[in-house]
Amino acid sequence: MPSNNGGTKNSQPITRVKPIKPCKNCPKQRYATTSLCYTHWRTHEREKRAKKKEALLQRKARFKEKKANSPKRLKKKLDDIISLYVRRRASDWRGNALCITCGVEKPYKELHAGHYVPRDNYSVRYDLRNLAPQCFKCNMKLPGCKAGNITQYTKYLVSQYGWPWVEKLIKDGEQSRQWTPEELRQEIVRYQELLKTL
Ligand SMILES: [Zn+2]
Ligand SMILES: [Zn+2]
Repeated sequence: MPSNNGGTKNSQPITRVKPIKPCKNCPKQRYATTSLCYTHWRTHEREKRAKKKEALLQRKARFKEKKANSPKRLKKKLDDIISLYVRRRASDWRGNALCITCGVEKPYKELHAGHYVPRDNYSVRYDLRNLAPQCFKCNMKLPGCKAGNITQYTKYLVSQYGWPWVEKLIKDGEQSRQWTPEELRQEIVRYQELLKTL
């Protein structure tokens, strides 16, 4: 009978210096330098890749959520939704509204919602008293005028509400105000609801 040193069917155990260790999960031979057989190693690698992918997705989702809930993002979102509300509320059935400082008529999508007290005053940044539709020229850069066409804006507000009302708005704008993310979120939801009523 020819001897078969490398055979596994040999009933006589072959003495080796380093006996081959079986796979950790089954009696099969280990694959390369791993502690698993090829089949189990493949499964293990597949699971490892899937876990890695899942962890990456979770990390991305957390990052996205964190970004969406950052005060900066929330402030921007609230700015945008109030602006939309102010312009849509002022527009007619065709979707057109007037610039309150020069009277030009434009689709609300082309108008701005201009602040009377500058918007870096957070106490009145999201205050509807402080916002009105304005054209780009009046809100941003009317030649020979301060940004916001402020003289005309004042005239408009006084004619609509009277000087004491305007004075109160200016005074309120001098207060300092911090917005928590929760407050910003609540306001966003409130305006989302208000928009539906238009
Ligand atoms: Zn195995
Ligand atoms: Zn204008």
